[in-house]
Amino acid sequence: MREAYLDYNASAPLDPRVFEAMAPVLADDVGNASSVHRFGRRQAAAVDEARQHVAGLVGGRPAGVVFTAGATEANNLALRGAAEAAPEGRPRMLVSAVEHASVARTARWLSDSGVVKLDVIGVTPGGFVDPAAVEELLGPDVLLVSVMAANSETGVLNPVGEIAERVRAAGAMFHCDATQMAGRMPFDMATLGADLVSVSGHKICGPGGVGALVGTRHALARLSPLIHGGGHERGLRSGSLNVAGIAGLGAAARIAADERESESARVGVLRDRLVDELEARLAGVHQNGDASRRLPNTANVCFEGADAEAVMSNMDPVAVSTGSACSAGSIEPSAVLVAMGLSHEAAFESVRFSLGRFTTAADIDRAVESATAAVSRVRSMA
Ligand code: PMP
Repeated sequence: MREAYLDYNASAPLDPRVFEAMAPVLADDVGNASSVHRFGRRQAAAVDEARQHVAGLVGGRPAGVVFTAGATEANNLALRGAAEAAPEGRPRMLVSAVEHASVARTARWLSDSGVVKLDVIGVTPGGFVDPAAVEELLGPDVLLVSVMAANSETGVLNPVGEIAERVRAAGAMFHCDATQMAGRMPFDMATLGADLVSVSGHKICGPGGVGALVGTRHALARLSPLIHGGGHERGLRSGSLNVAGIAGLGAAARIAADERESESARVGVLRDRLVDELEARLAGVHQNGDASRRLPNTANVCFEGADAEAVMSNMDPVAVSTGSACSAGSIEPSAVLVAMGLSHEAAFESVRFSLGRFTTAADIDRAVESATAAVSRVRSMA
């Protein structure tokens, strides 16, 4: 059996065109992007170009792009940066129950440390945040609300525009982790009304270890830096810039903005075929999350009576995942699926398939064969 990679939500392969954009920066260029000599200016020009592309991907301003070492850091900067600079009278933070660990655990840590008072916004059985649930928790004492655009485990989309409208009316800041959404579907922070948006390179066929927090002028002015030093990135993220990584992120953002529509249409057909085939071949299969509002590349599938970890290892060399890769190894069921009301048993029987730019029909055939055999095998051993 040949390998197939269906774990794009954990990390997507580097696009060769992104590699081409990065290679000369690594091989030929020299100089610190802050230096005034011509070498430095060349580096700064590459960074500026990337800033335009990253801003373009999410509908932000180039001057509002703060490059970070990934979405984890961007999320930390949004939450901790806002908490540290919080004005009097706004001690509360609202975070959805299905956020990535880099939002959920940061908020929990801020709350445990007594820096903020945290309220967790529940989700519907379909896995999305109901704007009315946000409204209920909002008040003049809320500093920041964080709700992701698309969930990494289920692909379910949140009604970000409706949520942002309510958050803004309460005078709070709205942070949106768009890590999974940005390269896959149109996302325009200006139209939606988001103040702070996180993105990551390796989810959009760019390099890992690089990302950005994109903010409005007003929101960025309300953040404290996490990393102090020479005052790079508007004083919000000191440290000589990772120019090759940033150039790669910029190229990945440019390609994703150009191609996401056609790519998502193609990938959506493959994802639907995968699910249809699994449902046709196996009994006791159902999808988690509202399928009518979901990323086109993701399916979270429960195979009743088959432990997902066992299914996953029996599927090797076809790569899928159970829950978020960032919490793999933990014996806890997926917090996302549990927040949606799944039993622990059903959560432990759920596998995530996530497709992307280089997924082929042959990959889907392999995944169907391998999942069907794995589930039958695991069920027969139970
Ligand atoms: N947010 C979401 C929704 C994610 O899926 C991930 C990656 N698993 C992150 C944040 C963290 O991104 P990074 O790997 O760039 O730190």
